[in-house]
This record gives sequence, C-alpha cells and structure tokens, in this order.
Amino acid sequence: MHHMSLIEENIIMAPFTTLGVGGPARYFARASSVEDIKDIVKFAKRKKTPLIPIGGGSNILVSDEGVQGMVVKMEIPGISFNNEEKDSILMKVFAGEDWDKVVERSVSAGLYGLENLSGIPGTAGAAPVQNIGAYGVEISGLVFEVEVYDAKEEKFTVFKNEECSFGYRESIFKNSPGRFLITSVIMKLSKRPYFVSDYKDISERMSSGNYSQDGAGMREMVLDIRSKKFPDEEGTGSVGSFFKNPVLSSDDLQKVKMKFPDIPFYPHGSGYFKVPLAWILDKLLKVRGLRHGNVGLFDSQPLVLVAYNGATQKEIFAFAEEIKKGVKDATGIEVDYEVKLLS
Ligand SMILES: Cc1cc2nc3c(=O)[nH]c(=O)nc-3n(C[C@H](O)[C@H](O)[C@H](O)COP(=O)(O)OP(=O)(O)OC[C@H]3O[C@@H](n4cnc5c(N)ncnc54)[C@H](O)[C@@H]3O)c2cc1C
Repeated sequence: MHHMSLIEENIIMAPFTTLGVGGPARYFARASSVEDIKDIVKFAKRKKTPLIPIGGGSNILVSDEGVQGMVVKMEIPGISFNNEEKDSILMKVFAGEDWDKVVERSVSAGLYGLENLSGIPGTAGAAPVQNIGAYGVEISGLVFEVEVYDAKEEKFTVFKNEECSFGYRESIFKNSPGRFLITSVIMKLSKRPYFVSDYKDISERMSSGNYSQDGAGMREMVLDIRSKKFPDEEGTGSVGSFFKNPVLSSDDLQKVKMKFPDIPFYPHGSGYFKVPLAWILDKLLKVRGLRHGNVGLFDSQPLVLVAYNGATQKEIFAFAEEIKKGVKDATGIEVDYEVKLLS
C-alpha cells in the first residue's frame, strides 16, 4: 500500500546543507520510493513550481531568502548486485544511499573501482550529477546506467553511460536542473584487483608498506589523506571544493605561462590543461587561510571555502566573488563554481 508522501511548506533549508546556510523552501517533501516521486512531481506541476532534488546537501549553497520551489529530499534506499560475470559485476544503488557506505560495501565485497572515491559526503543519487571525482578516479568511469524519473515527460527512463554527457564536474543531469530525478545508479565494478595510484599522496603511501595491498588498503589511504584536507570542527561548514580547477586551452595556458612560468598544469583531454586553483590562491594571491567575518578559505586546502557559525549566503557569495575577481585580475583566468547555487 502506498501512502502519499507528506508535503510540508516553508521548511528552513540550513540544516539540510553542509554549509549550514539557507532560508525556507516553499515546499518540501521526502521521497522514499519511486512512487513518492510520481506524486511529488504531480504536486509540483499543479502548483507550477520548479522541482529541486537534493541528497545530503553537501554541494549546494541555498539563498538566504530561501527557494521558490519544491525541494525533494531523495531518500530511496537499496543496494543490489546483478549480472555477475567472470571479471565484473553490476552494483545497483538507489539514490538515497549514503555514498561512502556504498564505497565501503563494494570494498568489503572485494570489488575494485570505487575505493579512490572513499569519504566523499552525500548520496549515491547525487554522485553522477557533478560526476564526483577524487585521486584520479571519476564516477563516470564506473557508471553503467543511471535510472531517472523524467519530470517533464512524466516517465521513468534510463541513461546509458555515453548518454550522460559526463565531463569534469559536469553531466546532463547538472545541466537540466529539475528535469531528471535520479532514482538509482548502476555501476560496473571489477572482481579483479586494479589500483589507480598516479597521485603523489597515494603512490607515496602505497610504497610505505603501511597499508594492505588491496581495496581496503586503498580506501584507508584515501580516508587518511582526506582527513587532513577538510575542516571537521563543530561550526565549520563546507562543500569541499567550492571552486572548480580552471581548464585552459593550450593557447590560454601559454599566455598565463608567459606571466607565471612556474604555474603547474596537467593534461586534461586533448588540447586542454587543468591548472590547480589551489596553487594560484596559495602562491599568487596568497589567500590561503584568509578570513573575512564568518567566511574563509581552509588553511590546509584553499579550494575549500569555510562557513563559520553565523555565515549567510550573501556573505559567502560576496567572499567567493571576491576570490574569483582576484584570480581574474591576477591571471585573466575565469573561475567557475563547483557548488550549485539554489534560490
Ligand atoms: C567535506 C567535503 C568534501 C567533498 N569532497 C568531494 C570530492 O572529493 N569530490 C567531489 O566530486 N565532490 C566532493 N564534495 C562535494 C559533494 O560531496 C558531492 O558533490 C556529492 O555528490 C553531493 O551529494 P549530495 O547528496 O550532498 O548532493 P546535494 O548537495 O544535495 O545536491 C547536489 C546537486 O545534485 C542534485 N541532486 C541531488 N540528488 C539528486 C538526485 N537524486 N537526482 C537528481 N539530482 C540530484 C541537486 O539538485 C544539486 O544540484 C565534497 C563535499 C564536502 C562537504
């Protein structure tokens, strides 16, 4: 028997975000089944109000004035394994599962692929939205299919990997806000051991002999590295990296290098180069650890913007724009936000 999920009004969003900031959602509901989603979408259409799916709120900045729309907290649970083959298996996870629990589960099942993505906050359903990535792995390399409810067409549909338009912190889901509610993600994981260890932090640990040479060891390394990179005290909110690392064409990179010959860069697809923004903030702008009022940049990782107790969205946004302008003035580089702004 299915019961209509409760639709609430004027629910303060701050507690539903890791920045701890944001005013009320006009409408708010929790979806714990695919049936709930259909009801919620019908309601939003009747009210002619946009749909805003959220998971753990670890990549959103909600306006102080709140959001004029129907916030749907995606809580659908479930994990299953299918299509086992000699070397691989499909792991299906529903949107509401905690991402790190999914990684832990895959590692303890002896499967390889997700371990470098250990410790990323949020839900499984949000993982394909910005194509989460860390330590040389992006979820796009493991996604087999993404199942969604298409709110526009009012039907369930499936995106194959190549239909998701995955890019660096990009996907079709991020670029069609409110249309596709991800209900589950199906990943193809390897039963054979393999490791992605190009990152210096990881290769150093691998050769230290202090970790087991398996998925569990890799997961432990990643969690150890991450434990120092993000604020974890009470009263310090963040969304991880607030800014994206700039991706430049080789012409643009050459221009920047004329001025700053030391600037580090890494190949990023053919003809493009990723520049670590942390280096620019640290070495050129010297803003590592900068704090204005209730907002600052985290000392151990300047890409991480920290919201201290009492911060407002306006304060955060003004600070972020100031950083953006600083980078533009110094280098000519246009920085994009990784966080999703909701109003
Ligand atoms: C300390 C910290 C460290 C982080 N480190 C990393 C990192 O290493 N790599 C990385 O990539 N990210 C990182 N992040 C960012 C964040 O964890 C990821 O973006 C995560 O996937 C967000 O999940 P969420 O459930 O909290 O999504 P939310 O913040 O709730 O939503 C994010 C976006 O996804 C959409 N969305 C959410 N759920 C669904 C759904 N079911 N269907 C459709 N759309 C949906 C929302 O509308 C929104 O646009 C970090 C964040 C923090 C706080």
